[in-house]
Amino acid sequence: MELVFASHNSNKLLEVQLMLPQNLIIKGLDHIGCRDEIPETDNTLQGNALQKARFVKEKYGYNCFSDDTGLEIDALDGRPGVFSARYAGEQKNSQDNMIKVLKELEGISNRRARFRTVIALVLDNEEMLFEGIAEGEIISQKRGNEGFGYDPIFVPVGYSQTFAEMPLSVKNQISHRYKAFKMLSEYLMSLNYF
Ligand code: IMP
Repeated sequence: MELVFASHNSNKLLEVQLMLPQNLIIKGLDHIGCRDEIPETDNTLQGNALQKARFVKEKYGYNCFSDDTGLEIDALDGRPGVFSARYAGEQKNSQDNMIKVLKELEGISNRRARFRTVIALVLDNEEMLFEGIAEGEIISQKRGNEGFGYDPIFVPVGYSQTFAEMPLSVKNQISHRYKAFKMLSEYLMSLNYF
């Protein structure tokens, strides 16, 4: 069986393929001739993930899944949330985003935050959502060079290192993304979908 992952990014595609049952064939948008920049205009992670998966199903006819991730900081009322990639502007720069977050948190003692990944699956006539969460806190200065995005300022619960200080192999066992994809994987296996 094959399933489309609504992404143009070949690295992401490879990463996702490794997290799903081996006998399932995952195709990216480029493999199905989709060159569209799929709109992500909703103000929730769930809405954006569904928007992307529905777009592919409706326009190209393929069963499809897509993901959307955000960092939610309690003291900032859940921001940057759905705006995580472009929090400091359309240049989508991680350094700028972290500077903005750290500035907004200056003098605030409640540093609780979480990464949330939502996966939307559109399979024939059915729509499903899967969610993975990594709880943690935002520290006051960047630490570490691994990973990407907000990793240098996020320490997951139960650890003293930031996501950017730990080996990727460790982050990948506890991350929001890993948890969401594990749920998707288990669901597809329960359907014998491969
Ligand atoms: P996306 O939905 O996977 O594209 O993620 C949106 C944005 O959230 C990214 O551009 C990053 O800024 C941030 N983000 C997502 N996942 C992670 C992560 O695992 N670590 C740090 N930042 C992340």
